[in-house]
Amino acid sequence: MNAFNVAKFGGTSVANFQAMSGCAAIIENNPTTKLVVISACSGVTNLLVELANGVQESQQRAMIIQQLADIHYTIIESLTAPQTVSAEIETILDTVRRAAEAAAFEVSKKLTDHLVACGELMSTYLLTQILRERGVDAVRFDARQVMRTDDHYGRAEPQLAALQSLVTEKLYPLCQQHVVITQGFIGADQEGNTTTLGRGGSDYSAALFAEAMQACGLEIWTDVPGIYTTDPRIVTKAAPISEISFSEASEMANFGAKILHPSTLVPAIRHGIPVFVGSSKAPQEGGTWIRQQVDSTPLFRALALRCNQTMVTLRSANMFHAYGFLAKVFEILAKHKISVDLITTSEISVSLTLDKTDTSGGNPELPQHVRQELETLCTVEVEHDLCLVALIGNKMKDRPGYAKQVFGVLDEFNLRMICYGASAHNLCFLVNSHVSKSVIQKLHQELFE
Ligand code: ADP
Ligand code: ASP
Ligand code: MG
Repeated sequence: MNAFNVAKFGGTSVANFQAMSGCAAIIENNPTTKLVVISACSGVTNLLVELANGVQESQQRAMIIQQLADIHYTIIESLTAPQTVSAEIETILDTVRRAAEAAAFEVSKKLTDHLVACGELMSTYLLTQILRERGVDAVRFDARQVMRTDDHYGRAEPQLAALQSLVTEKLYPLCQQHVVITQGFIGADQEGNTTTLGRGGSDYSAALFAEAMQACGLEIWTDVPGIYTTDPRIVTKAAPISEISFSEASEMANFGAKILHPSTLVPAIRHGIPVFVGSSKAPQEGGTWIRQQVDSTPLFRALALRCNQTMVTLRSANMFHAYGFLAKVFEILAKHKISVDLITTSEISVSLTLDKTDTSGGNPELPQHVRQELETLCTVEVEHDLCLVALIGNKMKDRPGYAKQVFGVLDEFNLRMICYGASAHNLCFLVNSHVSKSVIQKLHQELFE
C-alpha cells in the first residue's frame, strides 16, 4: 500500500464557492491526500439529465442552460483570477448547448453520457483553481484518460486491468508530484466515447481509483457526518454509526442507502482499504469508519430504503412440480440483458424485481418484446410504485424471535416479496411507495430508538 489518501467530495460539497473552499481546507489538512475525486456541483447532473432526455422547446432548453451557467459563473466570480477558467467553462457550456439540441431531435444513451459528463468536467476546473489560489500545487486531470469502461452507456462497467495499467502509467506519477483533481462518475470506452457509471457513481470512481493507486485510505465527504442508522432525512432520531463492517455497509449500499453508490465498497474490500465517511461542512464532527473488522456487531444495524422498484410476477400452472420452468424464464431475461434483483417463488408463480436503472433515471422497465417472449411461457404482471425496505444486521437468521419483533409493528402494512434467511445480514420486503417512509419510521422507533 502507498501512503496515499483518496478524497471524494459529492455534489453538495462542491455546490458553491464556500462549499468548495471547505473541501480545499480538508484537502490541505491532510498532506497524504494526493487524489481528489469530485462530483458535479449540486443540481447540475439533474439539469443535464433533463436536457439529455430531450427538451423540445428551445426557450425551455435555453432556460436550463442559463441555470447551469449561473451555478458555475457564480463560483467563477468569487475567484481571484476568473479569466483562468472562464473560457474552459464556456467551451463546455457550448458542448451542452449543441448536445441538448441534438437530444431534442433524438435521445440516445451515448449522447446522454456525453452530455451528462459535462457537470463533472466543469466542477473540476473550479475546484482546481480554488486550490491553486490558496497556494496548493493542484492539477486537473481528465478521468477519461484512465477510467476505461465497456460501452454500456448509462451504466458502464469499469475494465479493471486496463484501468490499473492506465492509472499506473498516467495518474500515479502525477499524484507523486501534485495534488490531482479528477472527475468521478465518468469514463471512456475503448473508442474514446464518454461513458458514465450510473447515478451516484462518483463514490465508485473514487474507490476504483483508490484500489488502482493502492491507496491506504479512502474518504467520502458528503453532506452528513457519517452513516446513520437510517436516512436522517426520513427519521430525525437516526443516530450516527462510528464504525461499521464492510459487509454491513455493503448491504446498506446495495439496498439503497444513498450515502454510498452500491458498488463503492467492492474495490475497497478487494484491497482492504478502510473507508471514512464524513461531512465536508462539519469535518470536526467526525464520521463513520468502514473496515474489515469492527468491535461491535449488533443484531440490528440500520434500515435502508430503495424506491422506484418494478416487480414482475410470472404465473403458470405448468410450473407446478415441473422442472426447467425457471431456467427458461431466466434464459429469456439473460438473453435480453435484464438484470434481476430479488426473487421469491411459490408453486405456480415467481416474483422478481428488476435491477436498478441507469443514468437517464426513471423506473426500471420490462421491455415490451421481453414481456411478449415471457408471455409464451406464463402470464406476466408488472407493478410499479414500490419501495424496498431492508433491515441490515448481524446473524439475524440465527436469532429466534426477531422476525416477530419486526413484523409485529408492521401489521397495518401490506408487505410483499419478503426475503428472509438467504443472508445473515438482512431481511427485506417491498411496500407501496406512499407508505414507505412510515414503515421506516415505525421500524426505526421499534428497533433503534
Ligand atoms: P453526495 O452528493 O455527497 O454523494 P448523496 O446525496 O449521494 O451525497 O448521499 C448523501 C445522502 O444520503 C444524505 O444526505 C442522506 O439523505 C442520504 N442517506 C441515505 N441513507 C443514509 C444513511 N443511512 N446515513 C446517512 N445518510 C443517508
Ligand atoms: N454527479 C453524478 C450524480 O449526480 C454522480 C455523483 O454525484 O456521484 O449522479
Ligand atoms: Mg452520492
